[in-house]
Amino acid sequence: MSQNDLFKRLVAHCKEYGYIFQSSEIYDGLSAVYDYGQYGVELKNNIRKYWWDSMVLFHENIVGLDSAIFMHPSVWKASGHVDAFNDPLIDNKDSKKRYRADVLIEDHITKLEDKIEKEVSKAAKRFGESFDREMFCKTNKRVLDNQAKIDDVSGRFAEAMNSSDLPALKRLIEDCGVVCPISGSRNWTDVRQFNLMFSTDMGSTAEGATKIYLRPETAQGIFVNFLNVQKSGRMKLPFGIAQVGKAFRNEIVARQFIFRMREFEQMEMQFFVKPGTEMEWFSYWKEIRIKWHKSLGFNVDDYRFHDHDKLAHYANAATDIEFRFPFGFKEVEGIHSRTDFDLKQHQQLSGKKMQYYDNETSESYIPYVVETSIGLDRMFLQVISAALQDEIIEKEDGSTDSRVVMRLPAILAPIKLAVMPLVKKDGLAEIAGKIVDNLRFSFNCQYDDKDSIGRRYRRQDAIGTPFCITIDHQTKEDNSVTIRYRDTMLQERVNISELPAIIGEKVSIAALLRDQA
Ligand code: ATP
Repeated sequence: MSQNDLFKRLVAHCKEYGYIFQSSEIYDGLSAVYDYGQYGVELKNNIRKYWWDSMVLFHENIVGLDSAIFMHPSVWKASGHVDAFNDPLIDNKDSKKRYRADVLIEDHITKLEDKIEKEVSKAAKRFGESFDREMFCKTNKRVLDNQAKIDDVSGRFAEAMNSSDLPALKRLIEDCGVVCPISGSRNWTDVRQFNLMFSTDMGSTAEGATKIYLRPETAQGIFVNFLNVQKSGRMKLPFGIAQVGKAFRNEIVARQFIFRMREFEQMEMQFFVKPGTEMEWFSYWKEIRIKWHKSLGFNVDDYRFHDHDKLAHYANAATDIEFRFPFGFKEVEGIHSRTDFDLKQHQQLSGKKMQYYDNETSESYIPYVVETSIGLDRMFLQVISAALQDEIIEKEDGSTDSRVVMRLPAILAPIKLAVMPLVKKDGLAEIAGKIVDNLRFSFNCQYDDKDSIGRRYRRQDAIGTPFCITIDHQTKEDNSVTIRYRDTMLQERVNISELPAIIGEKVSIAALLRDQA
């Protein structure tokens, strides 16, 4: 299956199994807005909890916050979003399709990188074990030519973006020969800036109404509350404030399902540090955050850092944690050293001091900030795209079977266990019901007695349920049940009384965090 087909399959699976629905679907949907179904909401809650606990419970010096979506309009003036939260857009005159100019150039660079990778893997196959990648890349003409092109385009791209030189971006698109994927033509409009903030009116009368914005990031709610939290919590630097909440961006091109949405959720943590120590903390948080991602047990080669050439107006260092999605390596989380930009701006515009008094040095200063910012929905997409697999099963008699399985980490799975009576009669359904009643407040359980046991297992595999408990006639004799593990499909007989301990340990976020401490 091509990567594109794989992705379509993932979207279809999410709908079929109650994970994600298009918003307002009966009215043909609303572009780039999605609703989470019965399993989706559970998975989303679990990802949010794992992030929250790994920030707020794990770190003694990080506390939480829940600030409002609406904020005073001056917040967005101070933060620079009114003037600079823009994306460069370009239209193809033939297809009338709109694109982000920077994304067209990034995609072109990715294509050149792919060409190099193809050369490398061809050569690796040819030379076998004696293959020396570094030497090959230094000497192969085709690799060197493509690398020179990448360096040239990347250099011009960074320069154009850093100076917001829109004509230079257009020239670069033309020089790279970028064509519109729909019309195949190079007939481009000029590049224009487009502000991504949504606005609305607050107030009851047209004359008295104030234009306010739907926040494009949750971070500003943390900045404006920095001193409230610091003083009321008697916090000492370094310390962090974590927040999860909705953010809104009027994205120019909203594609790729929940990767780029107009309404989405962010999980952000702003870490306030003494000026001059921010690079140390930047490295610290890079390491902590990549560890968090890798702790979920997916392929570690599917994660990488991507350092920014173009820094946002507030940053002095920035990197992305990227994951290999079905459509290539893309950002899941940003780690930014935001300097004292935001606090300083708020101090200037509000006229209120945003300084911290350092008892140890008896000085007052505006702290520097290192931020970790991850999209909850994008993390959701990362998890399901890594988890969903089509598997061929070799059976004992030599024949094969297939199954669709969501290999979700047990701590994140929406349903932790399904309890199934082999047959409904002979009192087996009652025993199953009792087990569910006993466990329902500890774990999210599902009772399932429809269809054959094999079909029930397949249904739970497709949802991602890590454990299935089957009650049969032997249960009536010795209180034992079968526990079937999703990933290995192995079955084991255990006593009903052992279930809380066996399952509890595997689905516990607390246990996973304790291991990391
Ligand atoms: P991108 O380059 O993909 O537009 P960004 O660099 O603008 O993202 P940040 O402003 O750093 O993103 O936001 C932090 C995180 O919020 C991102 O890493 C991503 O996970 C998430 N995010 C940003 N925009 C969206 C969106 N439109 N839909 C879903 N998640 C998003």
